[in-house]
Amino acid sequence: MTHTSVAAYAAPAPKAPLERTTIPRRELGAHDIEIEIKYAGICHSDIHQVDNGWGEGIFPMVPGHEIAGVVAAVGSEVTRHQVGDRVGVGCMVDSCRECDNCKAGLEQHCTGTGNVQTYNAIGRDGEPTYGGYSTHVVVSEDFALRIPEGISLDAAAPLLCAGITVYSPLSRWGAGPGKKVAVVGLGGLGHMAVKIAHAMGAEVTVLSQSLRKKEDGLKLGASDYRATSDPATFEELAGRFDLIINTVSANLDVDAYLSLLRAHGTLVQVGAPEDRLGLSPFSVIGGSRAVAGSMIGGIPETQEMLDFCATHGLGAEIEVIPAEQINDAYRRVQASDVRYRFVIDASTI
Ligand SMILES: [Zn+2]
Ligand SMILES: [Zn+2]
Repeated sequence: MTHTSVAAYAAPAPKAPLERTTIPRRELGAHDIEIEIKYAGICHSDIHQVDNGWGEGIFPMVPGHEIAGVVAAVGSEVTRHQVGDRVGVGCMVDSCRECDNCKAGLEQHCTGTGNVQTYNAIGRDGEPTYGGYSTHVVVSEDFALRIPEGISLDAAAPLLCAGITVYSPLSRWGAGPGKKVAVVGLGGLGHMAVKIAHAMGAEVTVLSQSLRKKEDGLKLGASDYRATSDPATFEELAGRFDLIINTVSANLDVDAYLSLLRAHGTLVQVGAPEDRLGLSPFSVIGGSRAVAGSMIGGIPETQEMLDFCATHGLGAEIEVIPAEQINDAYRRVQASDVRYRFVIDASTI
């Protein structure tokens, strides 16, 4: 297979700082599109993977699974996209397309080959995948999403991971008018959960360690904002919520959060702590409550999310940075010093 060479920022080894380099991209296949990347979001999981936090990574590693750009070229059989279209790529770039989950539009749960992650994975062609901290990417047309005109490309990029990660459980568990939703943690995921749940018509409360970001939370669409460091919060809000979306990747007292659910309420885990979650059976037997998890969303639902966000004028709150500041941005993400997503301007790569 022949390749073209494109500029990128890569970590040469685990935990190493990212540096400018070149990487191969495959030649355009009949069903591929080439995207000129305009913006790439920095997701916390990029840092985990560079640090080998989720197991042995593939190096050099080019992170980035929140990609927004414009179609630069299309393969001979492409029907879904045209040169000049605004498109995005999220956490996956391929799957078997034949298993029950793929046929149901749940490619993220592919049971055939498994989904092919946008970076730090081996594609079905046997080549490593490289992510969005790069000037161009070649992907199957089926795994590129349309970004409607209603959202700017920089604010759209984080929707491809953070947006769909919270949209999917909010939609599945029926956030909407008359429903009370709590969002735990106001970071990259949490701030999108507040915006989307509010736009769906739900009454939103933020549960955060402190009241440091209260003003932001209320501006983003929450009607209440409580500190979880204050024990009174758990007394006053007991039995209140239909749905709790936990975006925090630290270990929490699950029993305490379950006590905030009304009967038949659900706590959905989207943050990924490294340790096991513990809970008392009585926390779910009482109130017939449920604990669930959710992982991004399939391609059809990701498109639905982008269309929803465009209709409601929603994008991420972002800080756009030049590529040379990626390593600084990583340190600031680890220190929770970002409101609320760094986005790399790919023209600086
Ligand atoms: Zn992500
Ligand atoms: Zn499959």
